[in-house]
Amino acid sequence: MTRVFLASRNRKKIAEMERILREHAPGIEVLGIDDIEGYVEPVEDQPTFEGNALLKARAGLAATGLPALADDSGLCVDALNGMPGVLSARWAGRAKSDERNNELLLEQLDDVPDERRTAHFACAVAFCHPGGELVVHGRMDGRVIREQRGNGGFGYDVLFVADEHTDPERTSAELSAEEKDRISHRGRALREIAPLVADALA
Ligand code: IMP
Repeated sequence: MTRVFLASRNRKKIAEMERILREHAPGIEVLGIDDIEGYVEPVEDQPTFEGNALLKARAGLAATGLPALADDSGLCVDALNGMPGVLSARWAGRAKSDERNNELLLEQLDDVPDERRTAHFACAVAFCHPGGELVVHGRMDGRVIREQRGNGGFGYDVLFVADEHTDPERTSAELSAEEKDRISHRGRALREIAPLVADALA
């Protein structure tokens, strides 16, 4: 059994990564932060998704000695010059509230006409192992609507309609997990990196 560390506490992300990795390397087991006693998370202070993903994966390898994966993601709104970007999780303050982030975003875009409400989710996934490191990117294009809809997903999903899902028009919080995975920034990046990880561990 080959063990890989994923620098996340999110059980869903860990299970998703394990499922995708096992398609390429059946013997892989993915451990998360909660599986490592006393794990201290680094401060995510880099200006790019790639920088933060690499910082987390490098810290994971250094702390556990295991090949380490990490992702970083966020929403980039064109009318806000690409923000909230790497600040997506704490856009409305350090308390990290999805509800307050969404309210603030709606307020900021109040005067922005429909045709200029374009945005994309971006994700970088980094992999660091004793033999080297690599980073892949994924994105999901769409736009920010004017009212919150849907109960699924998390974060800004209730305000985001992906270009690939406009008929009928549904937010990414109204897609099933499988539908979202198929088109999402994270799904795309994870599917791209999985065979590369499997090769690096072979
Ligand atoms: P993280 O990289 O998973 O920590 O995500 C950073 C922040 O970006 C989250 O707290 C959300 O606000 C936002 N975000 C990233 N991916 C998504 C997504 O798929 N849907 C909605 N919000 C997201």
